[in-house]
Amino acid sequence: MIDSHTHLHHLDFRDDRDEVFANLRAAGVSRVLEVGIDYLGAERSLELSERYPEVLVAVGCHPHEASNWNPEFAAAMRRWATLDKVVAFGELGLDFYRNYSPHDLQEVAFRQQLGIAREMDVPVIFHVRAAETDFLRVLDDEGDPRRAVLHAFSHSFEFAAEAIKRGFWLGIGGMVTFPKSNLPQILTEISPERVLLETDCPWLAPVPKRGRRNEPSLLIHVLESLADIWKMSTADLEQLLDANFAQFTGIR
Ligand SMILES: [Zn+2]
Repeated sequence: MIDSHTHLHHLDFRDDRDEVFANLRAAGVSRVLEVGIDYLGAERSLELSERYPEVLVAVGCHPHEASNWNPEFAAAMRRWATLDKVVAFGELGLDFYRNYSPHDLQEVAFRQQLGIAREMDVPVIFHVRAAETDFLRVLDDEGDPRRAVLHAFSHSFEFAAEAIKRGFWLGIGGMVTFPKSNLPQILTEISPERVLLETDCPWLAPVPKRGRRNEPSLLIHVLESLADIWKMSTADLEQLLDANFAQFTGIR
């Protein structure tokens, strides 16, 4: 089992990180993709990758942090992308829900990171919230990345269909286990081959741990929900989702 989206460098894991890694190993999680949200986060994630062998890293400027995007950050992205452990850029995109950074700066950071990703052929992890139309407008302008995932997918069926038409994966996590979620219904119409498994820990813990701190060892609850939706065995589905991750990152 592979967790395609973690924030294990988050302060929430400061006191028991070794235990969290022991837990994920015991739960059969073989790899985690540790996702950056800012410059410091990227450095902390890279440190984790030196300490824990299962950590791969994505570096990027989250839309919330777009006010801090600058030429130094862009240069660092190019430098980091050459490291073995760095397998993706992200999370990047647009968030017009929280509006922690002005829309115009979000768009600049988004466009420039897309440009670097294209130039260096690095896969991309998208964060999109309340900004679907503008997100697609920018992509139409800049061109779709060759490999990309819409992380924490919680949009409409139409948006899922549009993403899949563009060749993207959908990142599915704890939300699929929430009783009122429309995700199970949407996913019945979607091929398992277009999905990546993720926790987005420390956030979005699945039922039965909803509301608590999330961690990769809880991924099994997401896998079980998905196996239920697609009427597959968890073993077959796990293998299929791991293969999707290998395709996304190009890592075997
Ligand atoms: Zn995230």
